[in-house]
Amino acid sequence: MKYQKPKGTNDILPKETKKWQFVETTARNILEKYDFHEIRTPMFEHIEVITRAVGESTDIVTKEMYDFTDKGNRHITLRPEGTAPLVRSYVENKLFGPEHQNPFKGYYFGPMFRYERQQAGRYRQFHQLGVEVIGSQNPATDAEGILLALDFFKSLGVTHTKLVINSLGTRENRKAYRQALIDYLEPLKQELSDDSKRRLESNPLRVLDSKDKKDKVIVENAPSILDYLDEESGAFFEEVKSLLDALGVAYEIDHRMVRGLDYYNHTVFEIMSDAPGFKGAITTICAGGRYDGLVAEFGGPDTHNAGFGFALGMERILITMDAEGIEIPSKPEVDVYVIGIGEETNVQSLKLTQLARDNNLSAERDFLNRKLKAQFKSADKLGAKVALIIGGTELENQVVRVKNMTTGTEEEVSLSDIYQDFATIYETILSK
Ligand code: ATP
Ligand code: MG
Repeated sequence: MKYQKPKGTNDILPKETKKWQFVETTARNILEKYDFHEIRTPMFEHIEVITRAVGESTDIVTKEMYDFTDKGNRHITLRPEGTAPLVRSYVENKLFGPEHQNPFKGYYFGPMFRYERQQAGRYRQFHQLGVEVIGSQNPATDAEGILLALDFFKSLGVTHTKLVINSLGTRENRKAYRQALIDYLEPLKQELSDDSKRRLESNPLRVLDSKDKKDKVIVENAPSILDYLDEESGAFFEEVKSLLDALGVAYEIDHRMVRGLDYYNHTVFEIMSDAPGFKGAITTICAGGRYDGLVAEFGGPDTHNAGFGFALGMERILITMDAEGIEIPSKPEVDVYVIGIGEETNVQSLKLTQLARDNNLSAERDFLNRKLKAQFKSADKLGAKVALIIGGTELENQVVRVKNMTTGTEEEVSLSDIYQDFATIYETILSK
């Protein structure tokens, strides 16, 4: 039998994980600046946590769940997204209590699971970085969240971005709009794609989001949700816009932009990329919005029943960085390489490697009993600054050769000296 990874999953290999770590570190540094704190929730949840929040008629719930019954007869699902689990955890752990940050500013990072049809850039296990603010009704929270997302892309060197915003108003506003949209689409139903026909019944707002070319033309003239906002929702949206204006943030308004999850209301936003590598295609690289009501849905207090957040698809960010031609700053892999010639140096080679590591340097050695030349090649490949060379003769004389790999300068040092004061010997050879 030939073993292969499951469809829609990826092995992220060392060359790639370097990029992932760069993105993660950049994100963590920025999140710290904005006073956000990490939450790690389980990879699976009781299915109700997801269905309640995300919505029974969404694609995620109807088609994409990795759910199963466990040995205790519990209906479980691998998490398809991070907001519902985080809000569940917020309520369950009473993070609204007086000893906690208020509003609570949390983030998560990790794998999500959706049983999707296989397509480029769409996986069954993918990774999201998500940011959530719970307990603030202030539109400044929406603006801050958007600023944070933009700041993040800027720090990664991603510049071909466009911010698009919209408002979905309240549940009541959406109800009125939903009807207007149905009235508009119903006579055109035969021309819609099969997916959109189905959505027209179950979740008509999702028709606006269709990627089908013909559908896109049809929704061009659909009524605008912005005409269905009540006074309060309209004022809230105005406030978000004026905050963005005050901070000098450029944005577009797209009244057809909706989100695929039911819990959103008021502000929704996306950041799109038109990086040269995408060849004219526009890709969403960040999406989110406000979800007032979700905290109460999970049994949390009305006083904290407001939320704002967004999620970024990590795989898509890495594709975007490639599309913009961004190189990850790379550093040499090791400081020190220990070259041991002959099996009799095996112990001393390991001891010298550990000595370098004990001095807070990264170090590597040969394990395959290779010849001197091959070991030097490895040292070069790893970008070693200093090589420690020990063969049978050196071992007999209790010395080691210390070589500056950049200048080629080499000195012989006694083993007792190097064990006594490695730091000085290392610094000295680097200066020669
Ligand atoms: P779409 O309309 O493209 O299916 P969505 O509404 O399902 O998007 P969200 O649930 O808002 O997407 O997820 C936020 C981000 O997570 C997306 O913008 C994307 O970058 C990423 N994402 C979602 N699903 C996948 C997937 N199956 N594989 C890789 N990345 C994904
Ligand atoms: Mg989707």
